[in-house]
Amino acid sequence: MSVQQDSIARFSFTNHDVRGELVRLQNSYQSLLQGHDYPLSVQQLLGELMAVTSLLTATLKFEGHINVQIQGSGPLNYATVNGSHNLELRGAARLTETPAGSTFRDLVGDGAYLVITLTPEQGEKYQGVVGIEGDSLSSAVESYFLQSEQLPTRIWLFADPAQGLAAGLFLQVLPAGTNTGSSFEHVNALAATITAQELYQLSTEEVLHRLYHEEQVELYPEQAVQFFCGCSREKTAAALRNIPLAELHNIIEQDGELRLTCDYCLTDYVYNSFDVEALKAHTAPSRAQ
Ligand SMILES: [Zn+2]
Repeated sequence: MSVQQDSIARFSFTNHDVRGELVRLQNSYQSLLQGHDYPLSVQQLLGELMAVTSLLTATLKFEGHINVQIQGSGPLNYATVNGSHNLELRGAARLTETPAGSTFRDLVGDGAYLVITLTPEQGEKYQGVVGIEGDSLSSAVESYFLQSEQLPTRIWLFADPAQGLAAGLFLQVLPAGTNTGSSFEHVNALAATITAQELYQLSTEEVLHRLYHEEQVELYPEQAVQFFCGCSREKTAAALRNIPLAELHNIIEQDGELRLTCDYCLTDYVYNSFDVEALKAHTAPSRAQ
């Protein structure tokens, strides 16, 4: 059986009120890192963040976006990954200084927060914030689910920048589940033996067989995950229309051009003085985004 990279699989147990998900990232993870000069520890964190964001994206009950962000208080200023309901992800990180150590805690510092924002295309935005107390991203997301949704959740996250692979396993009690305590402990204990290499190298069926061969597991069709930025010249133009023309000309006079670089995919959008004049000529409220 071949391993389906850049995909997410959902599963459930016939005899336990617990659901699960398994994700593996390769090209999407490599695309997210491409061109950025992140230290290895940040590459590792972004792999885990991308894995967990895809796991959470697959649980969305609406069309829209989910953003998972670490607001650091150490060398890491922030790390963020955004995912859409159709599993298109992008992300970036910013450091304030070169990290001295390479652990999660060395990077994020002692007063860091995890911020999860759900943005439906229709309806109200929802934001949940938890202080990061444990020594891993997975424990922070588990605390988030316990605090914001009262749902016991276990998450295993792995990333290996050298191999360009990231993976994650997610188990969660169903919201309307009954007798969930012992069921949840049981499926957790069986999953606790999983290793990064198994998730990287085995197919979903093989992983589930290895962990749960004595359980009845229902597996749903795998969904593709991909890196997609979504930035465009039109979006930068819309932002520039809010800035006075004289200010734009000033920048071009000083720097020779106006260059906007996307934080996520590093695409450059370059404007000269003719371009900014043309922007203003097309100012019409109905075209603004
Ligand atoms: Zn971009």
